[in-house]
Amino acid sequence: MTFTYVIEHMEEDETTPKSLPPWVELEYAHMIMLAGINGRVEFTHLSHNSSSLLDARLAPINESPASYQVHTQSVMELLEQNNIPITRVCLLDPKAQTVLAPEDGEIFDHFLFGVRSVSAETSCSLNNLTSGRKGILGDDPPRDRTSELRQLGFPSRHLGPMQMTTDTALGVTKRVVDDKVQLNAIPYVDFPTITFNAKESVEMPFRYIVNGKEPVLPPGMRELLHEDLNKSFDF
Ligand code: SAM
Repeated sequence: MTFTYVIEHMEEDETTPKSLPPWVELEYAHMIMLAGINGRVEFTHLSHNSSSLLDARLAPINESPASYQVHTQSVMELLEQNNIPITRVCLLDPKAQTVLAPEDGEIFDHFLFGVRSVSAETSCSLNNLTSGRKGILGDDPPRDRTSELRQLGFPSRHLGPMQMTTDTALGVTKRVVDDKVQLNAIPYVDFPTITFNAKESVEMPFRYIVNGKEPVLPPGMRELLHEDLNKSFDF
């Protein structure tokens, strides 16, 4: 069974961004890694320019078992084009009534996640990641952008009460529907503190999967956070 993870960009994307923020590369590469051997990741509703930039950034790492594709079409357009009914698509929605369970892997083969536009993240810095507003990782406090997808009528499931980063939400979904692990059997850490050295640390306002004592972050994210922390003190 193949599972398709759709990452829908909900805001109109800037038509000509010059580059994508490094967060995007790290988070999106992580999603492809986490999707596993039965997984496929579709990045939808991007501008032409962002989709070429993203493709160029992701192509070198596409040795992972999962495949990916970038699209300018929205999820609705893609589903229509491929004759996929919305009953096969599960929206991951923090406000859903039902928790995601391993059996959902028999009902759905598409899992849908909502994110902001990639180009809107260019101004992202550690300050707005940790003290709130609009990091690529999610909004703190959450702003219920998922509601725009909810209104389209997709069946939905939640992953517990805490907001996860989108790569974490994808990884957790994969563990549940593909590996058949119950949601509450996955080890998590909430609001982990990432410590760089005796003087520098940062608290992340999300739930992550934990490996030992460490939150599972995209490779390179720790270094990027540290770099950004130093930048935020450059006046
Ligand atoms: N801030 C946005 C909001 O409040 O709707 C969501 C940002 S979250 C980083 C991105 C996506 O991950 C959500 O649209 C949802 O699909 C998924 N997600 C994150 N945490 C979730 C949870 N606890 N339950 C279900 N889906 C979740």
